[in-house]
Amino acid sequence: MKLTHPEHAPPADAAHARAIKPVICYPVETLPRPDLAALRAARDSWTKTAEVIVPAREAKYFEVPAGCFFRITSIEGPQVGDLNLWAAEDLNERFFSGKTRALHGTHLSTGDQLWSSIPYLRPMATITDDTLDWYGIDEHGGSVHDVIGTRCDPYTHHMLSGGDTYHHCCHSNLTRALTEATGLMKHACEFHVHDVLNVFMCTGFTRDTGQYFMKASPVRPGDYLEFFAEIDLGGALSACPGGDCSSEHSSDAAACYPLLVEVFTPKAPPAGWVSPARNGYDRTHGCDLD
Ligand SMILES: [Zn+2]
Repeated sequence: MKLTHPEHAPPADAAHARAIKPVICYPVETLPRPDLAALRAARDSWTKTAEVIVPAREAKYFEVPAGCFFRITSIEGPQVGDLNLWAAEDLNERFFSGKTRALHGTHLSTGDQLWSSIPYLRPMATITDDTLDWYGIDEHGGSVHDVIGTRCDPYTHHMLSGGDTYHHCCHSNLTRALTEATGLMKHACEFHVHDVLNVFMCTGFTRDTGQYFMKASPVRPGDYLEFFAEIDLGGALSACPGGDCSSEHSSDAAACYPLLVEVFTPKAPPAGWVSPARNGYDRTHGCDLD
């Protein structure tokens, strides 16, 4: 955090430096944009082909073939979810929350894409519907579906609580779900768990101190976030122990509810859609050594 009382005096041109207009780091005008109309048209013929209920304070693994859709829906009560995505055949290719944030901003909505890690760096999924798009950005700078948080985890909780142990943080829930789904050792699976898309969570950064904040999610039963799978996906969703994240997480104190994951398969892939190839950079890095 920035110092309340800086130790160094501002230079004479400080006001000029502060007044310089910001430049967007990653203008996305050159990115190929998904054909949202074509993706949505494919929904007309879809049928539901799988369904997973994620119990409160737990996580579940699911798979979505390329060309299909999946929806995360609030049921029973307001609840946020922490989403991890992997390429179904290669856990090394995972959702890259940081680059997704750099490209699309701090909070995602319809038309944004979820990008995979380097060196793959390609769209894994495209958001095709968001019933909370009405929320926008509130007066505190808060919004929903963030890629600025990480996932609640027992290590940070251990540090901040003076040594408490809690096993149902999203990090642990996701680790257990991946372990059960893959049969890999849990400590190996833990390294594949990564920073999440915070589905339905309402977050931002405080304007005065720049600290990460959360507030009660506006999500209500029936709200959903819908995705189109650009590649074969494995996913894991944790129903966060924070519930609607209006007060605290990393404990059993908050009211928590299950989340619903549904997979829909269209009769035919969207018109003109092609599953994206891995990133085209040649990976030589200007270096002759192997
Ligand atoms: Zn959590």
